[in-house]
Amino acid sequence: MREDYRLRYVSTRGGAAPLGFCDATLAGLAPDGGLFVPEQYPTPVDVAALSGKSFEDQALTVMSAFAGGEISDQDLAADVDAAMATFSHAARTPLVQIGPNEFLLELFHGPTLAFKDVAMQTLARLMDRILKARGRRATIITATSGDTGAAAADAFRGRDNIDLFILFPEGRVSEVQRRQMTTIADDNVHALSVAGDFDDCQRIVKALFVDRDFNDQVAMSGVNSINWARVAAQITYYFYAGLSLGGRPVAFTVPTGNFGDILAGYVAKQMGLAVDQLVIATNKNDILDRGVRTGSFVPGTVTPSTSPSMDIQVSSNFERLMFDLSGRDPASIQSRLADTRAGFSLTEDEHAKLTALFASGRCDDVLAGERIAKTYADTGILVDTHTAVGLAAADMAPRREGVPMVTLATAHPAKFPDAVEAASGIRPTPPARLAHVLDAPERATPVAADTRAVADVVLARSRAVTA
Ligand SMILES: *Cc1c(COP(=O)(O)O)cnc(C)c1O
Repeated sequence: MREDYRLRYVSTRGGAAPLGFCDATLAGLAPDGGLFVPEQYPTPVDVAALSGKSFEDQALTVMSAFAGGEISDQDLAADVDAAMATFSHAARTPLVQIGPNEFLLELFHGPTLAFKDVAMQTLARLMDRILKARGRRATIITATSGDTGAAAADAFRGRDNIDLFILFPEGRVSEVQRRQMTTIADDNVHALSVAGDFDDCQRIVKALFVDRDFNDQVAMSGVNSINWARVAAQITYYFYAGLSLGGRPVAFTVPTGNFGDILAGYVAKQMGLAVDQLVIATNKNDILDRGVRTGSFVPGTVTPSTSPSMDIQVSSNFERLMFDLSGRDPASIQSRLADTRAGFSLTEDEHAKLTALFASGRCDDVLAGERIAKTYADTGILVDTHTAVGLAAADMAPRREGVPMVTLATAHPAKFPDAVEAASGIRPTPPARLAHVLDAPERATPVAADTRAVADVVLARSRAVTA
């Protein structure tokens, strides 16, 4: 074990040795089932010095603070620059005004038209760099309900030291999402269409993760939103938006599923950004909205909605917030979260701390549709269904006089064209970069919803096995 990490990452469950940034990035999940968090947040960041800087320059400051000296600023800058060069807008994540003191932060100008591109494009380059420096290869196996797999396929295609296997539920992702995964021609990307649902895909990936022999054989790594480097890469756009508004206190509303995106806003505040309030927006899968109101988080069954990337009942990244709310007490996290399906409760003190910073709002499919139509009527801007859930939650949130509200626009409307057209009567125009995806030949490997069957495909194809 190395002892010389300048910034150590500890597990929220206290049962894993602390790691440095590079090791935590490759590991994804901590071996004790917990999530890695920095031992302390890098603070204070010189917020004033970031003002007026480009997205890339701000991102370098943020990523450098988390890398703890393990990757040089020159190398980090190269990866951040290359990642953001895949975005089709010069501002990368432009802030757009939609009303008096109301803004949209457009995070969907990346290759797969959802906010996950910001972090995934950065993560792919960092992982490849870390592996290359160590002369190693890795295999990434990920389950997706759509957007994560698409973002990963684009970000990891052609990477020398990484093979990517994406498990998606056959017939249950949108056509655009499926095509974004199956039209990648690079040999290191493998789309597996699983004869089952998303839960089957996730169950198989988890089973492979805990199979130590298999894990060692293929050098398995994870890129879902529990990977700290992804959270870190998402922090920048909070700074970027807050500083674009002059650095005064700003409220953010975030369409939320796994709690990764909004957690980045929380960390930005810990690093010194003036964040007045964070509003958790949920669709009818509303465990977080109920939890914020009552302090008790009881998962129901997942109900499909028009905002599928938020159809989640167990939000993995909430564990990181809860770790802080508990006063960083790993034993209390371990005892309450070991069985996430059972639900958990916050203490009164934790609940008070939660509601001091977070508010929440719930928006069903009907209200989301109405909000798409209203936004179009008010501004001429078409928003996607996830963003609409955010806007509706922002409407409900208690507001402080004069504080700007920034709602995160997490997907391009053309990614969910049917729901957007049904709500507004307008078919969103696909951006030029989608054209290739819409007519390139598809390639997917059908596989049974069975752990062994998936393991066999991975063993036969991963370059890490023979390396
Ligand atoms: C993934 C996703 C979300 C939810 O983000 P979390 O980090 O999981 O909370 C919201 N909107 C879109 C479009 C997404 O792809």
